[in-house]
Amino acid sequence: MTYKLLTIAGSDPSGGAGIQADLKTFSALGCYGMAVPTALTAQSTTGVTGVHAVPAEFVTEQLETLLADVRVDAVKIGMLANADIVAAVADAVEEYELPNVVVDPVMVAQSGDRLLAAEAVQALRSRLLPLAHIVTPNLPETADLLDEPEVHDLAAMADQATRLLELGPQRALVKGGHLSGQSSTDLLAVPGAAPDSLSAERVATRNTHGTGCTLSSAIASLLPQRPTVHEAVRDAKDYLTQALRRADELNVGRGRGPVQH
Ligand code: PLP
Repeated sequence: MTYKLLTIAGSDPSGGAGIQADLKTFSALGCYGMAVPTALTAQSTTGVTGVHAVPAEFVTEQLETLLADVRVDAVKIGMLANADIVAAVADAVEEYELPNVVVDPVMVAQSGDRLLAAEAVQALRSRLLPLAHIVTPNLPETADLLDEPEVHDLAAMADQATRLLELGPQRALVKGGHLSGQSSTDLLAVPGAAPDSLSAERVATRNTHGTGCTLSSAIASLLPQRPTVHEAVRDAKDYLTQALRRADELNVGRGRGPVQH
């Protein structure tokens, strides 16, 4: 059985992040990939020079046309650009009762460029997080979602991961890549228990463009294929580690290049 995966996210012409990274990940993990773009970016490996958001009504039209025809098995939601698009996507997730919804709350690119209007964070929090089967913020995104300062140690990260569940997602994976250390540790918060810790080797490469997109789309690909969320996240993390290990085989651009799927 080939699972059908949908990404609702921004376009990255350099192919390292956004819907391009998601579609490569879906294929590499044996799924059939579909994509509803929410924004075009003008982007290379060195940064983003412009963002052209799709009108929210046209995001709705893309979703309704597709979902009236195709039953999807999992959805990855990434860059949403503004509050109107957040609402359009949340409406479609509710209307079509989409399963296995992975929300990657993309706010700012590693290059420092903003990918979500600051005033849209509240819409993300109130409309989309309650619909998420799992939300996958890094530490700065976690701080923004909770409206608290960014934390710098595992104990404080565990506390924030647990409190993210109060915003409504069924699971919260807080990614600790911004902490220092030899390994990169993420915490998976589940209701009623202490968060699970998942560690992976920290791969030494500067080619880390699109790692967040790749991890969230790998989780979406594996949720229908694994018996538990924990196993889907663990295997998605392994997939990202392999892709990072092979990243230096590629020679794309002069900035932070993509990982190799
Ligand atoms: N461009 C798009 C369309 C994205 O969705 C994202 C991240 O989610 C990025 C760029 C940023 O990627 P990175 O922060 O890994 O450079």
